[in-house]
Amino acid sequence: MEKIYVEKTASRGIAISKIYKYEEMDLKPVQDKIGEQDKEEHIGKFLNARECVRKELEELAATNEIFSAHLEMVMDFTLEDSVKSKINNNSDNAESAVDEAISEVASVFEMMDDEYMKERASDIYDVGKRLMAQLKGVPLPDIGNIKEEVIILAKDLFPSDTVKINTDYVKGIVTEEGGVTSHVSIIAKNMGIPALVGVKGIFNKLNTGDIACMDAGKGIIVISPEEDVLNEYKQKQQEFENEKLRLEKLRDHSVVTKEGKKISLCVNVGNAEDIEKALPVKMDGVGLFRSELLYMENTHFPTEEEQFEVYKRAAMLCPSELTIRTLDIGGDKELPYFEFEKEDNPFLGWRAIRISLDMKEMFKEQLRAILRASAFGNVRIMFPMIISIEELKEAKAVVEECKQELRKEGISFCEDIETGMMMETPASVILAEEFAKEADFFSIGTNDLTQYLLAVDRGNKKIADKYSYFHPAVLNAIKHIINAGHKENIKIGMCGEMAGDINATKILLEYGLDEFSMSAGSIDYIREELLKLTGVI
Ligand code: PEP
Ligand code: MG
Repeated sequence: MEKIYVEKTASRGIAISKIYKYEEMDLKPVQDKIGEQDKEEHIGKFLNARECVRKELEELAATNEIFSAHLEMVMDFTLEDSVKSKINNNSDNAESAVDEAISEVASVFEMMDDEYMKERASDIYDVGKRLMAQLKGVPLPDIGNIKEEVIILAKDLFPSDTVKINTDYVKGIVTEEGGVTSHVSIIAKNMGIPALVGVKGIFNKLNTGDIACMDAGKGIIVISPEEDVLNEYKQKQQEFENEKLRLEKLRDHSVVTKEGKKISLCVNVGNAEDIEKALPVKMDGVGLFRSELLYMENTHFPTEEEQFEVYKRAAMLCPSELTIRTLDIGGDKELPYFEFEKEDNPFLGWRAIRISLDMKEMFKEQLRAILRASAFGNVRIMFPMIISIEELKEAKAVVEECKQELRKEGISFCEDIETGMMMETPASVILAEEFAKEADFFSIGTNDLTQYLLAVDRGNKKIADKYSYFHPAVLNAIKHIINAGHKENIKIGMCGEMAGDINATKILLEYGLDEFSMSAGSIDYIREELLKLTGVI
């Protein structure tokens, strides 16, 4: 048994489970040539592998439409002919024949002009990975395939991995990399999964199948717990459940200050399902809908229609305002179907509103979808990473252009939809008074604001001790933003992780914050704290 103490918690909770080690595999083919007598055998190997992949994909396609395209590809005659010809004519073994055939088919798609067709190349590589894993007889690690209760242990998890997590099976997450405001942490919190990140050296200490317990709130992981420790954790799990029940009883209370101002408690979500799951916590609305998850889960840029369906469902589910943030991609958030040019400083690079304004047609598809959804609920538009008034005006002008088009087409939307902005760059703080005249609302993004104000990377463990939203520079910036906004009578929310930190609640309430938006899992705790601070309980 070994106990490891971790400095920071990503998402509270107790987990007791088997470890599932998530690692990228080396699937390079063996290069040996084969003799005439082995050719039939290698063609057989390919056909067997293909049959296994077909079954695998059929199962996945039953619940996720994305895999239907994969299924068609693996059964494609061109692929079969190409593999057979490489084995028969070049004496390639099955592995290298598949590897080469997949690269060839993929490159045909990569060279096409049509964006949609180009994007198919990544599906082909995925099919290739599955075939190669079957040929090598190794299971392919895929978080979406986990079908038993586990704690995932990974070097790092990227947003595209975490979106596949099924909370029925994934009971905990432990990663070597990442900080508490990294996207793994945020997604784990949204999903209510206990998570510890940045745990140096843990990856090589554990194997798949090892038993571990974790108290993510306290930052403790126990490897191979002895009987008494296991019982202690079962007890803790029970206590955690009891605390949850106590907090649930406060859900019908509204938070109103002594001066009579209502404080909104909102959730941050990544999709419509998150809203549905959050409904029991009785939130006042959605302070941040991270629309990029919709783009990251897809195999292509989601169309206006696809987005409209999602936003409409979200708007109909949301009890009050639904704040949809336009695409915030770049930085550490990539798209599986879009090649980002390598940048020396991605967090200072081509990201968020910069991409949207450069790719105007794509931006318009998103805005039209949001506007159309505004006919079905109380929807607001929020722009990320704004640094200048011109940028905000330009983004608003694109909204106007879309409104104009929709009017002409006779499609309904909310004429006075609010457009606001994230306050997450130093420039936005310094120009807060001017921005407040132009924006309908502000939402303070402390995750980025802290990293940019302090010049401290939000995901770098080595300098994690310097990353603090309690730094006086960050606190002063927050106070300044709230005052500047209130002068113009606009509401100020916060959707960065600080809003869900119980140690920050008092100070944010004193500063006059109007809306706290956080992961659904934090709402009960913050509500209790606010009710105490406002003297209701
Ligand atoms: C933020 O920066 O505080 C924020 C909420 O946005 P994200 O974490 O998605 O960058
Ligand atoms: Mg941000």
